[in-house]
Amino acid sequence: MECAKCGRELKDEKSRQRGYGPVCWKKIQKAKEEQQHESTEDEIRFEKGRN
Ligand SMILES: [Zn+2]
Repeated sequence: MECAKCGRELKDEKSRQRGYGPVCWKKIQKAKEEQQHESTEDEIRFEKGRN
């Protein structure tokens, strides 16, 4: 089994279940968080614009 992102071999069970190596998994999680932050910042900007 290989990492779906970088193609490196996954050696531990958790990584195999996720389909990503620990480094790529962290990057994916962070990217998801940043996407959520983006929408939150837009909402904040909208709130400020009303004041
Ligand atoms: Zn990877």
